[in-house]
Amino acid sequence: MVIQERVRFGEARLFIGGRWVEGGTPIPVRDKYTGEVIGIVPEARREDVEAAVAAAQEGAKAMAALPAWRRAEILRRAAELIREQKEDFARLIAAEAGKALKWARAEVERAIWTFTIASEEARRISGEVIPLDAVPAGEGYFGFYIRRPVGVVAAITPFNFPLNLVAHKVAPALAAGNAVVLKPASATPLTSVKLCQVLEAAGIPAGGINLIFGPGGTVGEWLAAHPVVGKVSFTGSRAVGDRLTRVVGIKKLTLELGNATPVVVAEDVTDLGWVARRLAVGAFYNSGQVCISVQRIYGTRRVYEPLVETFAKAAQEMVVGDPLDERVDVGPLIDEREAMRVEGWVQEAVSGGAQVVTGGRREGPVMWPTVLIRARPEMRVVREEVFGPVASVLEAADFEEALAAANATEYGLQVAVFTRDINRVLRAIQGLNFGGIIINDTPTFRADHMPYGGVKGSGLGREGVRYAMEEMTHVHMVVIRPAP
Ligand code: NAP
Repeated sequence: MVIQERVRFGEARLFIGGRWVEGGTPIPVRDKYTGEVIGIVPEARREDVEAAVAAAQEGAKAMAALPAWRRAEILRRAAELIREQKEDFARLIAAEAGKALKWARAEVERAIWTFTIASEEARRISGEVIPLDAVPAGEGYFGFYIRRPVGVVAAITPFNFPLNLVAHKVAPALAAGNAVVLKPASATPLTSVKLCQVLEAAGIPAGGINLIFGPGGTVGEWLAAHPVVGKVSFTGSRAVGDRLTRVVGIKKLTLELGNATPVVVAEDVTDLGWVARRLAVGAFYNSGQVCISVQRIYGTRRVYEPLVETFAKAAQEMVVGDPLDERVDVGPLIDEREAMRVEGWVQEAVSGGAQVVTGGRREGPVMWPTVLIRARPEMRVVREEVFGPVASVLEAADFEEALAAANATEYGLQVAVFTRDINRVLRAIQGLNFGGIIINDTPTFRADHMPYGGVKGSGLGREGVRYAMEEMTHVHMVVIRPAP
C-alpha cells in the first residue's frame, strides 16, 4: 500500500517544569493535505508563559550544574530515541507540515545528526588563553576566558522544518547548559510535543525544556520580551524578525530570516541536465517553503535557452500530490491562503510581461512547480521571498552581470554558482555578499554543523550547533596576577 493510515495525534498539553499541564483555549492542528483535525494543543495564557519562564529559570540552574558528560549523554540518548521513532516522526511531519514523506524522513535523519553533533560539542565547549602580556599593561598577568550559559533561551520556530529547526535551537542550548522555553509555529506544534517527550525520556532535568503554544503576536512576544530570558533565538519571517529587534530589550538575539535565493549558471557548465535536476529539487521540495529555496536562476547568454528547457523539464518530472504517498515530491503549501498568495504573485508577474513555462496551476493548498521567464527585477517573484514552488530563469549578458544581479537584493542568506572555471569561482567568492556561497550545487545545501545564517535582511548570528552554542553563552574573562 502506498499511503499508510493517516496520522492521528490526539490532545497535547503544555510541558512546564517537567510536567504536562493544562493550558487555555484548545487550538486544532490540521493535516495540511486533507484539512482534517489530527491533534489539539492548548493555547498558553499569560500565566502559563510566566510559569514556563519561571520553570526554565530553575531548570537553567539544574542544567548548568550538570557535568558536560551528562549533558552529552542526554543529547546522545535523545538522538537514539528519535532514530527509534524515525518513521513516526516523519509521518507526523508529513501530516502537520504537508511535507512529502521522503523529505520528512530526510529531515528526521538530519535532526538525529543535529542532536548527535550537539552531544559531541557539549564535551568540547571551552574558553581560550589570552596572552595579556601582548601589551605592556598586561605584563605579569595571566588571562583566560570561560563560556557560561546565558540561562533561559527562548526558541521561536517556523513551520517549514518542525523538527530540525527546533533541534537547531534546543540541542545547542542544552549542550551549552541552558534551559529552553520553546514556542513552535502554531501550524506545526505536534512534532515539538513528540520531541519534548523524547527529551523527557532521555533524562533531561525538570525545567530543562518547556513547551508552550499560541499565536506569535501574543504568546511569542510575551516570551521574547520577558526580562528573565537571556537569549531569543528566532527563525521565521523578516517582518517578525524586524519586530523582535524592537521588543526583546537588552538580551542576545539570533535571527534566521528569509532570502530571495539566487543561483548563477555560467556557460562553461558541462552537464546541464544534472544542474537542472539539482535546481529543481532546490526550488520545489517542501513546495518551495525553504528559506534557501531556489528562486532566481541567472543563466548567461549562451546557456540561457537550454537552461530554461532542461529546468522546466526537471520541474515537470516532479510528482505532485499527497505528502503521505511515497512517490510524491511536492505536497501542499502550509494552507490554501498561502497557495493563493503565491498564485497571485505569479499572475501579477504574468500581467507585467513574465511568461509561465510550466506550472502556474493550483488546486486548494497545492501549487504545481512553476517556472517563469522574462520576470523583471522589480516584480515580487524576483525581489521578495516567494516561499512557494516558483522559480524564475533570468538571462544575464555575462558572468559579471549575473553576479551583480544575484547581489542586488535586500537579503543575503545563501547563493549558488555553477562553473568549472576556477577564476569564476574566485570572483564569485570575493564578490557575493551572502552568509553561505555554494559552488556547483544547489543553494539549499546545508550540513547541520556548518555555520549557517545570513547578512543584511536575512538576519543576525549563526546556527550550526557549535556556532549557536557560542551565541547561547557569555564570555567571562578571568585575569590573575601573583599576590604581592
Ligand atoms: P513567521 O510567520 O515569522 O513565524 C515564525 C514563528 O514566529 C512562529 O512560531 C510564529 O508564531 C512566531 N511569531 C509570529 N509573530 C511573532 C511575534 N510578533 N513575536 C514573536 N513570535 C512571533 O514565519 P513562518 O511563516 O513560520 O516561516 C517562514 C519564514 O521563515 C520564511 O520567511 C523563511 O524564509 C523563514 N525561515 C528562515 C530560516 C533560516 O534558517 N534562515 C529557516 C526556515 C524558515 P505563529 O506560528 O503562531 O504565527
